[in-house]
Amino acid sequence: MGKVNVEKNAAKFINQDDIHVTEHDKNLWNARTKRDIAASNIPEWEQLRDLASAIKEHSLTHLDHYIEQFATNAEKRGIKVHFAKDAAEHNAIAYEILSSHNVKSLIKSKSMLQEECEMTPYLEQRGISVLETDLGERIQQLSDQMPSHIVMPAIHQTKEDVAKLFAEKIGTDPNNTDAASLNEAMRNNARPKFLAADAGMTGGNFAIAETGTFVVCTNEGNADLTASLPPLHIASIGIEKILPKVEDLGVFIRLLSRSALGTPATQYTSHFSGPREGSEMHIILTDNGRSARLALDKFWTSLKCIRCGACMNTCPVYRRSSGLAYGATYSGPIGIIIDPTFDASKYSELPFHSSLCGSCSEVCPVHINIAEQIMDWRKEMMKNKEVDFSRRMAFKAAGIMLGNPKLFRAVEKVAYNAINILPKSITENKTLDPWAIHRDLPDVKKETFRQWYIKNKKNEQ
Ligand code: SF4
Repeated sequence: MGKVNVEKNAAKFINQDDIHVTEHDKNLWNARTKRDIAASNIPEWEQLRDLASAIKEHSLTHLDHYIEQFATNAEKRGIKVHFAKDAAEHNAIAYEILSSHNVKSLIKSKSMLQEECEMTPYLEQRGISVLETDLGERIQQLSDQMPSHIVMPAIHQTKEDVAKLFAEKIGTDPNNTDAASLNEAMRNNARPKFLAADAGMTGGNFAIAETGTFVVCTNEGNADLTASLPPLHIASIGIEKILPKVEDLGVFIRLLSRSALGTPATQYTSHFSGPREGSEMHIILTDNGRSARLALDKFWTSLKCIRCGACMNTCPVYRRSSGLAYGATYSGPIGIIIDPTFDASKYSELPFHSSLCGSCSEVCPVHINIAEQIMDWRKEMMKNKEVDFSRRMAFKAAGIMLGNPKLFRAVEKVAYNAINILPKSITENKTLDPWAIHRDLPDVKKETFRQWYIKNKKNEQ
Protein backbone atom coordinates (compact mmCIF):
# COMPACT_ATOMS: atom_id res chain seq x y z
CA MET A 1 0.00 0.00 0.00
CA GLY A 2 1.47 3.43 -0.98
CA LYS A 3 2.04 6.25 1.42
CA VAL A 4 -0.75 8.78 1.89
CA ASN A 5 0.30 12.02 0.21
CA VAL A 6 -1.11 14.52 2.70
CA GLU A 7 0.31 17.52 0.89
CA LYS A 8 -1.37 16.56 -2.39
CA ASN A 9 -4.69 15.77 -0.70
CA ALA A 10 -4.65 19.06 1.21
CA ALA A 11 -3.85 20.98 -1.98
CA LYS A 12 -6.88 19.39 -3.65
CA PHE A 13 -9.15 20.80 -0.93
CA ILE A 14 -7.45 24.19 -0.73
CA ASN A 15 -7.30 24.75 -4.48
CA GLN A 16 -11.05 24.20 -5.09
CA ASP A 17 -11.84 27.85 -4.30
CA ASP A 18 -11.65 30.23 -1.32
CA ILE A 19 -15.12 29.36 -0.05
CA HIS A 20 -14.49 25.79 1.08
CA VAL A 21 -11.46 26.57 3.23
CA THR A 22 -13.03 29.73 4.70
CA GLU A 23 -16.33 27.99 5.55
CA HIS A 24 -14.58 24.92 6.93
CA ASP A 25 -12.30 26.99 9.11
CA LYS A 26 -15.18 29.20 10.29
CA ASN A 27 -17.55 26.32 11.15
CA LEU A 28 -14.95 24.37 13.08
CA TRP A 29 -13.69 27.40 14.95
CA ASN A 30 -17.32 28.11 15.84
CA ALA A 31 -17.55 24.65 17.43
CA ARG A 32 -14.28 25.29 19.28
CA THR A 33 -15.57 28.66 20.58
CA LYS A 34 -18.81 27.06 21.77
CA ARG A 35 -16.76 24.36 23.50
CA ASP A 36 -14.84 27.03 25.40
CA ILE A 37 -18.05 28.73 26.55
CA ALA A 38 -19.62 25.40 27.60
CA ALA A 39 -16.48 24.41 29.51
CA SER A 40 -16.24 27.76 31.28
CA ASN A 41 -19.83 27.33 32.52
CA ILE A 42 -18.86 24.21 34.47
CA PRO A 43 -16.75 25.20 37.50
CA GLU A 44 -15.56 21.63 38.00
CA TRP A 45 -14.57 21.18 34.33
CA GLU A 46 -10.91 20.47 35.05
CA GLN A 47 -11.82 17.96 37.78
CA LEU A 48 -14.10 16.22 35.28
CA ARG A 49 -11.24 15.96 32.80
CA ASP A 50 -8.91 14.56 35.47
CA LEU A 51 -11.54 12.08 36.56
CA ALA A 52 -12.34 10.97 33.00
CA SER A 53 -8.66 10.42 32.29
CA ALA A 54 -8.20 8.43 35.52
CA ILE A 55 -11.28 6.24 34.84
CA LYS A 56 -10.07 5.48 31.31
CA GLU A 57 -6.55 4.71 32.48
CA HIS A 58 -7.93 2.39 35.14
CA SER A 59 -10.24 0.51 32.76
CA LEU A 60 -7.57 0.24 30.05
CA THR A 61 -5.06 -1.19 32.51
CA HIS A 62 -7.65 -3.74 33.76
CA LEU A 63 -9.24 -4.37 30.39
CA ASP A 64 -9.15 -8.19 30.51
CA HIS A 65 -11.22 -8.13 33.70
CA TYR A 66 -13.76 -5.59 32.44
CA ILE A 67 -14.18 -7.27 29.03
CA GLU A 68 -15.07 -10.52 30.77
CA GLN A 69 -17.43 -8.80 33.22
CA PHE A 70 -19.14 -6.86 30.43
CA ALA A 71 -19.62 -9.93 28.22
CA THR A 72 -20.98 -12.06 31.09
CA ASN A 73 -23.48 -9.40 32.15
CA ALA A 74 -24.56 -8.62 28.57
CA GLU A 75 -25.22 -12.32 27.94
CA LYS A 76 -27.32 -12.52 31.12
CA ARG A 77 -29.51 -9.86 29.50
CA GLY A 78 -30.04 -11.98 26.40
CA ILE A 79 -27.50 -10.12 24.25
CA LYS A 80 -25.31 -12.36 22.08
CA VAL A 81 -21.68 -11.30 22.44
CA HIS A 82 -19.10 -12.07 19.75
CA PHE A 83 -15.37 -11.36 19.84
CA ALA A 84 -13.49 -10.13 16.77
CA LYS A 85 -9.71 -9.98 16.79
CA ASP A 86 -9.49 -7.82 13.66
CA ALA A 87 -11.47 -6.07 10.92
CA ALA A 88 -11.76 -9.23 8.81
CA GLU A 89 -13.24 -11.16 11.71
CA HIS A 90 -15.57 -8.28 12.60
CA ASN A 91 -16.95 -8.18 9.05
CA ALA A 92 -17.22 -11.97 8.79
CA ILE A 93 -19.19 -12.14 12.06
CA ALA A 94 -21.51 -9.32 10.97
CA TYR A 95 -22.11 -11.03 7.63
CA GLU A 96 -22.72 -14.41 9.25
CA ILE A 97 -25.37 -12.96 11.57
CA LEU A 98 -27.01 -10.99 8.76
CA SER A 99 -27.01 -13.82 6.23
CA SER A 100 -28.36 -16.31 8.78
CA HIS A 101 -31.35 -13.95 9.12
CA ASN A 102 -31.60 -13.60 5.35
CA VAL A 103 -30.99 -9.84 5.60
CA LYS A 104 -30.99 -8.03 2.26
CA SER A 105 -31.28 -4.44 3.45
CA LEU A 106 -29.40 -2.96 6.39
CA ILE A 107 -29.65 0.47 7.98
CA LYS A 108 -26.80 1.70 10.11
CA SER A 109 -25.99 4.66 12.29
CA LYS A 110 -22.56 6.27 12.41
CA SER A 111 -19.82 3.99 13.71
CA MET A 112 -16.13 4.83 13.33
CA LEU A 113 -15.30 1.20 14.11
CA GLN A 114 -17.37 -0.03 11.17
CA GLU A 115 -15.62 2.61 9.01
CA GLU A 116 -12.27 1.38 10.31
CA CYS A 117 -13.23 -2.21 9.33
CA GLU A 118 -14.47 -1.05 5.87
CA MET A 119 -17.61 -3.01 6.62
CA THR A 120 -20.01 -1.34 4.16
CA PRO A 121 -18.20 -2.33 0.94
CA TYR A 122 -17.66 -5.82 2.38
CA LEU A 123 -21.39 -6.32 2.94
CA GLU A 124 -22.41 -4.68 -0.32
CA GLN A 125 -20.12 -7.00 -2.26
CA ARG A 126 -22.08 -9.86 -0.69
CA GLY A 127 -25.47 -8.57 -1.80
CA ILE A 128 -26.60 -6.61 1.29
CA SER A 129 -27.68 -3.01 0.65
CA VAL A 130 -26.43 -0.61 3.33
CA LEU A 131 -28.00 2.75 4.10
CA GLU A 132 -26.38 5.32 6.39
CA THR A 133 -29.02 6.95 8.58
CA ASP A 134 -26.92 9.85 9.91
CA LEU A 135 -27.35 12.80 7.53
CA GLY A 136 -23.65 13.66 7.32
CA GLU A 137 -22.71 10.01 6.81
CA ARG A 138 -25.40 9.67 4.13
CA ILE A 139 -23.96 12.69 2.31
CA GLN A 140 -20.54 11.04 2.46
CA GLN A 141 -21.95 7.70 1.31
CA LEU A 142 -23.60 9.35 -1.70
CA SER A 143 -20.37 11.28 -2.40
CA ASP A 144 -18.39 8.04 -2.25
CA GLN A 145 -16.03 9.56 0.30
CA MET A 146 -14.97 8.56 3.80
CA PRO A 147 -16.06 10.80 6.69
CA SER A 148 -13.84 13.85 7.05
CA HIS A 149 -14.62 14.43 10.74
CA ILE A 150 -15.59 11.98 13.50
CA VAL A 151 -18.57 14.04 14.66
CA MET A 152 -19.44 16.06 11.53
CA PRO A 153 -18.62 13.67 8.68
CA ALA A 154 -19.47 16.08 5.82
CA ILE A 155 -18.22 19.32 7.37
CA HIS A 156 -15.90 19.92 4.40
CA GLN A 157 -18.89 20.19 2.03
CA THR A 158 -20.85 23.41 1.49
CA LYS A 159 -24.65 23.66 1.20
CA GLU A 160 -24.11 24.21 -2.54
CA ASP A 161 -22.18 20.91 -2.77
CA VAL A 162 -25.00 19.10 -0.97
CA ALA A 163 -27.70 20.71 -3.14
CA LYS A 164 -25.84 19.55 -6.25
CA LEU A 165 -25.32 16.05 -4.84
CA PHE A 166 -28.97 15.60 -3.80
CA ALA A 167 -30.14 16.92 -7.19
CA GLU A 168 -28.07 14.17 -8.86
CA LYS A 169 -28.92 11.39 -6.44
CA ILE A 170 -32.45 12.01 -5.22
CA GLY A 171 -33.79 14.53 -7.75
CA THR A 172 -34.06 17.72 -5.66
CA ASP A 173 -33.79 21.26 -7.09
CA PRO A 174 -30.04 22.02 -7.54
CA ASN A 175 -30.68 25.71 -6.84
CA ASN A 176 -32.33 25.09 -3.50
CA THR A 177 -29.54 25.39 -0.98
CA ASP A 178 -31.75 25.83 2.06
CA ALA A 179 -30.38 23.48 4.73
CA ALA A 180 -33.80 22.69 6.25
CA SER A 181 -35.27 21.80 2.82
CA LEU A 182 -32.30 19.60 1.98
CA ASN A 183 -32.63 17.85 5.32
CA GLU A 184 -36.36 17.34 4.78
CA ALA A 185 -35.76 15.98 1.25
CA MET A 186 -33.33 13.39 2.57
CA ARG A 187 -35.65 12.46 5.41
CA ASN A 188 -38.48 11.83 2.93
CA ASN A 189 -36.19 9.83 0.70
CA ALA A 190 -34.66 7.68 3.44
CA ARG A 191 -37.49 7.12 5.92
CA PRO A 192 -39.35 4.48 3.86
CA LYS A 193 -36.05 2.56 3.64
CA PHE A 194 -35.71 2.73 7.44
CA LEU A 195 -39.14 1.16 7.77
CA ALA A 196 -38.43 -1.61 5.28
CA ALA A 197 -34.95 -2.58 6.58
CA ASP A 198 -34.31 -6.16 7.73
CA ALA A 199 -31.63 -5.24 10.28
CA GLY A 200 -29.97 -2.28 11.98
CA MET A 201 -26.35 -1.76 13.01
CA THR A 202 -25.02 0.85 15.43
CA GLY A 203 -21.77 1.56 17.19
CA GLY A 204 -21.48 2.17 20.92
CA ASN A 205 -19.98 5.17 22.69
CA PHE A 206 -19.71 3.53 26.10
CA ALA A 207 -20.17 -0.03 27.37
CA ILE A 208 -20.72 -0.59 31.09
CA ALA A 209 -19.03 -3.66 32.59
CA GLU A 210 -21.10 -3.89 35.79
CA THR A 211 -24.43 -3.95 33.89
CA GLY A 212 -23.60 -5.36 30.46
CA THR A 213 -25.41 -2.42 28.85
CA PHE A 214 -24.17 0.09 26.29
CA VAL A 215 -24.86 3.68 25.32
CA VAL A 216 -25.13 5.34 21.92
CA CYS A 217 -25.02 9.16 21.66
CA THR A 218 -26.47 10.91 18.60
CA ASN A 219 -28.06 14.22 17.73
CA GLU A 220 -30.48 12.98 15.09
CA GLY A 221 -32.14 10.06 16.85
CA ASN A 222 -31.14 7.89 13.91
CA ALA A 223 -29.43 5.29 16.10
CA ASP A 224 -32.67 4.79 18.02
CA LEU A 225 -34.61 4.19 14.81
CA THR A 226 -31.86 1.92 13.52
CA ALA A 227 -31.93 -0.14 16.69
CA SER A 228 -35.69 -0.15 17.21
CA LEU A 229 -37.37 -0.56 13.83
CA PRO A 230 -35.88 -3.80 12.45
CA PRO A 231 -36.09 -7.08 14.39
CA LEU A 232 -32.27 -7.50 14.48
CA HIS A 233 -29.79 -5.07 16.08
CA ILE A 234 -26.01 -5.53 15.90
CA ALA A 235 -23.68 -3.13 17.72
CA SER A 236 -19.97 -2.91 16.87
CA ILE A 237 -18.03 -1.86 19.95
CA GLY A 238 -14.27 -1.38 20.30
CA ILE A 239 -12.87 -3.01 23.44
CA GLU A 240 -11.53 0.34 24.68
CA LYS A 241 -15.10 1.66 25.08
CA ILE A 242 -15.70 -0.32 28.28
CA LEU A 243 -16.18 1.62 31.53
CA PRO A 244 -16.34 -0.15 34.88
CA LYS A 245 -19.51 1.34 36.39
CA VAL A 246 -22.73 3.18 35.58
CA GLU A 247 -21.65 6.03 37.86
CA ASP A 248 -18.63 6.61 35.55
CA LEU A 249 -20.93 7.38 32.67
CA GLY A 250 -22.07 10.79 33.94
CA VAL A 251 -18.50 12.09 33.83
CA PHE A 252 -18.16 11.25 30.13
CA ILE A 253 -21.66 12.36 29.12
CA ARG A 254 -20.96 15.77 30.64
CA LEU A 255 -17.67 16.06 28.75
CA LEU A 256 -18.53 14.53 25.37
CA SER A 257 -21.01 16.90 23.77
CA ARG A 258 -19.60 20.02 25.42
CA SER A 259 -16.19 19.17 23.97
CA ALA A 260 -17.61 18.23 20.56
CA LEU A 261 -20.10 20.97 19.79
CA GLY A 262 -20.43 23.07 22.93
CA THR A 263 -23.87 21.65 23.77
CA PRO A 264 -24.71 20.31 27.26
CA ALA A 265 -25.48 16.80 25.98
CA THR A 266 -26.22 15.00 22.75
CA GLN A 267 -29.91 15.18 21.81
CA TYR A 268 -30.20 11.43 22.31
CA THR A 269 -28.24 9.43 24.87
CA SER A 270 -29.76 5.99 24.45
CA HIS A 271 -29.12 3.08 26.77
CA PHE A 272 -29.42 -0.43 25.33
CA SER A 273 -29.96 -3.17 27.85
CA GLY A 274 -31.17 -6.18 25.91
CA PRO A 275 -33.32 -7.26 22.96
CA ARG A 276 -36.97 -6.26 22.68
CA GLU A 277 -39.47 -9.07 22.74
CA GLY A 278 -39.38 -10.95 19.45
CA SER A 279 -36.07 -9.37 18.36
CA GLU A 280 -32.36 -10.17 18.62
CA MET A 281 -29.45 -8.05 19.85
CA HIS A 282 -25.77 -8.83 19.13
CA ILE A 283 -22.56 -7.09 20.13
CA ILE A 284 -19.32 -7.54 18.21
CA LEU A 285 -16.56 -6.64 20.70
CA THR A 286 -13.65 -5.78 18.46
CA ASP A 287 -9.92 -5.51 19.07
CA ASN A 288 -8.49 -4.65 15.63
CA GLY A 289 -5.09 -3.52 16.87
CA ARG A 290 -6.25 -2.07 20.19
CA SER A 291 -4.51 -4.58 22.46
CA ALA A 292 -1.31 -4.15 20.43
CA ARG A 293 -1.63 -0.36 20.88
CA LEU A 294 -2.13 -0.89 24.60
CA ALA A 295 1.36 -2.38 24.69
CA LEU A 296 2.97 0.70 23.12
CA ASP A 297 4.54 2.66 25.98
CA LYS A 298 4.41 6.04 24.28
CA PHE A 299 1.11 5.66 22.48
CA TRP A 300 -1.28 3.55 24.57
CA THR A 301 -3.10 6.53 26.08
CA SER A 302 -4.58 7.31 22.65
CA LEU A 303 -7.04 4.53 23.60
CA LYS A 304 -8.62 6.93 26.10
CA CYS A 305 -10.16 8.85 23.17
CA ILE A 306 -13.94 9.35 23.39
CA ARG A 307 -14.18 10.58 19.77
CA CYS A 308 -15.42 14.07 20.57
CA GLY A 309 -13.52 15.74 17.71
CA ALA A 310 -12.43 18.74 19.84
CA CYS A 311 -8.79 18.25 18.81
CA MET A 312 -9.85 18.46 15.16
CA ASN A 313 -11.94 21.61 15.66
CA THR A 314 -9.04 23.44 17.26
CA CYS A 315 -6.23 22.24 14.98
CA PRO A 316 -5.07 25.04 12.62
CA VAL A 317 -3.74 22.52 10.11
CA TYR A 318 -6.90 20.36 10.08
CA ARG A 319 -9.15 23.40 9.77
CA ARG A 320 -7.34 24.51 6.62
CA SER A 321 -6.70 21.20 4.93
CA SER A 322 -9.87 19.18 5.78
CA GLY A 323 -10.11 15.64 7.10
CA LEU A 324 -9.85 14.07 3.65
CA ALA A 325 -6.22 15.21 3.43
CA TYR A 326 -5.25 12.55 5.98
CA GLY A 327 -6.45 9.72 3.70
CA ALA A 328 -7.54 7.67 6.72
CA THR A 329 -10.60 6.78 8.79
CA TYR A 330 -9.36 8.97 11.63
CA SER A 331 -8.16 12.44 10.71
CA GLY A 332 -6.92 15.50 12.59
CA PRO A 333 -4.62 15.24 15.62
CA ILE A 334 -6.22 12.05 16.95
CA GLY A 335 -5.84 10.47 13.49
CA ILE A 336 -2.16 11.38 13.42
CA ILE A 337 -1.51 9.36 16.58
CA ILE A 338 -3.88 6.45 15.87
CA ASP A 339 -3.48 5.81 12.14
CA PRO A 340 0.23 4.84 12.24
CA THR A 341 -0.66 2.07 14.72
CA PHE A 342 -2.62 0.45 11.86
CA ASP A 343 0.04 0.99 9.20
CA ALA A 344 3.15 3.01 10.07
CA SER A 345 4.44 3.14 6.52
CA LYS A 346 1.19 4.17 4.84
CA TYR A 347 0.57 6.95 7.38
CA SER A 348 4.21 8.01 7.87
CA GLU A 349 3.59 11.55 6.55
CA LEU A 350 0.76 12.28 8.98
CA PRO A 351 2.86 13.28 12.01
CA PHE A 352 4.43 16.04 9.92
CA HIS A 353 0.99 17.48 9.16
CA SER A 354 0.94 19.45 12.41
CA SER A 355 2.13 22.80 13.69
CA LEU A 356 2.86 21.20 17.11
CA CYS A 357 1.12 24.18 18.70
CA GLY A 358 -0.32 21.88 21.39
CA SER A 359 -3.88 23.21 21.17
CA CYS A 360 -5.16 19.63 20.71
CA SER A 361 -3.74 18.54 24.08
CA GLU A 362 -5.23 21.64 25.70
CA VAL A 363 -8.80 20.81 24.68
CA CYS A 364 -8.78 17.01 24.95
CA PRO A 365 -11.39 16.09 27.60
CA VAL A 366 -9.48 12.96 28.63
CA HIS A 367 -6.03 14.58 28.77
CA ILE A 368 -4.36 12.68 25.96
CA ASN A 369 -0.89 14.19 25.40
CA ILE A 370 -1.59 14.40 21.67
CA ALA A 371 1.11 16.93 20.70
CA GLU A 372 3.75 14.94 22.57
CA GLN A 373 2.67 11.73 20.81
CA ILE A 374 2.80 13.49 17.42
CA MET A 375 6.41 14.45 18.20
CA ASP A 376 7.16 10.86 19.26
CA TRP A 377 5.65 9.54 16.03
CA ARG A 378 7.94 11.89 14.08
CA LYS A 379 10.91 10.38 15.89
CA GLU A 380 9.63 6.86 15.16
CA MET A 381 9.25 7.68 11.46
CA MET A 382 12.77 9.11 11.32
CA LYS A 383 14.24 6.14 13.20
CA ASN A 384 12.50 3.61 10.97
CA LYS A 385 13.47 5.53 7.80
CA GLU A 386 9.82 6.01 6.86
CA VAL A 387 10.61 9.62 5.97
CA ASP A 388 12.14 10.33 2.56
CA PHE A 389 15.90 10.65 2.28
CA SER A 390 16.05 14.41 1.59
CA ARG A 391 13.96 15.26 4.66
CA ARG A 392 16.01 12.93 6.83
CA MET A 393 19.20 14.62 5.66
CA ALA A 394 17.67 18.07 6.18
CA PHE A 395 16.76 17.19 9.79
CA LYS A 396 20.19 15.71 10.34
CA ALA A 397 21.89 18.86 9.01
CA ALA A 398 19.60 21.07 11.11
CA GLY A 399 20.45 18.97 14.18
CA ILE A 400 24.21 19.39 13.62
CA MET A 401 23.87 23.11 12.96
CA LEU A 402 21.57 23.85 15.93
CA GLY A 403 23.84 21.85 18.22
CA ASN A 404 26.89 23.93 17.34
CA PRO A 405 26.62 27.71 18.10
CA LYS A 406 29.68 28.65 16.02
CA LEU A 407 28.44 26.76 13.00
CA PHE A 408 24.93 28.17 13.49
CA ARG A 409 26.26 31.74 13.43
CA ALA A 410 28.31 31.09 10.32
CA VAL A 411 25.38 29.52 8.45
CA GLU A 412 23.08 32.30 9.63
CA LYS A 413 25.45 34.90 8.17
CA VAL A 414 25.73 33.14 4.81
CA ALA A 415 21.96 32.52 4.58
CA TYR A 416 21.18 36.11 5.53
CA ASN A 417 23.47 37.55 2.91
CA ALA A 418 22.19 35.11 0.32
CA ILE A 419 18.54 36.05 0.94
CA ASN A 420 19.40 39.73 0.54
CA ILE A 421 21.41 39.21 -2.65
CA LEU A 422 19.70 36.38 -4.52
CA PRO A 423 16.69 37.13 -6.78
CA LYS A 424 13.18 36.02 -5.66
CA SER A 425 13.08 33.54 -8.55
CA ILE A 426 15.59 31.52 -6.51
CA THR A 427 14.63 32.29 -2.89
CA GLU A 428 10.93 31.75 -3.58
CA ASN A 429 11.15 29.09 -6.24
CA LYS A 430 7.86 27.19 -6.01
CA THR A 431 9.24 24.12 -7.76
CA LEU A 432 12.28 23.78 -5.51
CA ASP A 433 10.38 24.70 -2.36
CA PRO A 434 6.67 23.74 -2.08
CA TRP A 435 6.53 25.83 1.13
CA ALA A 436 6.60 28.92 -1.08
CA ILE A 437 3.50 27.94 -3.07
CA HIS A 438 1.12 29.63 -0.66
CA ARG A 439 3.51 32.07 0.99
CA ASP A 440 5.80 34.97 0.16
CA LEU A 441 9.02 35.43 2.05
CA PRO A 442 8.80 38.72 4.01
CA ASP A 443 11.36 41.40 3.21
CA VAL A 444 14.45 40.62 5.18
CA LYS A 445 16.08 43.39 7.22
CA LYS A 446 19.71 44.20 6.50
CA GLU A 447 20.61 43.48 10.10
CA THR A 448 19.96 40.19 11.92
CA PHE A 449 18.30 40.16 15.35
CA ARG A 450 21.59 39.01 16.85
CA GLN A 451 23.47 41.98 15.32
CA TRP A 452 20.75 44.36 16.51
CA TYR A 453 20.78 42.88 20.00
CA ILE A 454 24.54 43.03 20.40
CA LYS A 455 24.60 46.63 19.19
CA ASN A 456 21.74 47.80 21.41
CA LYS A 457 22.91 45.85 24.38
CA LYS A 458 26.26 47.64 24.07
CA ASN A 459 24.54 51.01 23.80
CA GLU A 460 22.62 50.23 26.97
CA GLN A 461 25.78 49.52 28.98
S1 SF4 B 1 -8.14 12.82 21.19
FE1 SF4 B 1 -9.25 13.89 22.82
S2 SF4 B 1 -10.00 15.76 21.79
FE2 SF4 B 1 -9.42 14.33 20.16
S3 SF4 B 1 -11.27 13.23 19.62
FE3 SF4 B 1 -10.23 12.01 21.18
S4 SF4 B 1 -11.08 12.66 23.13
FE4 SF4 B 1 -11.65 14.21 21.64
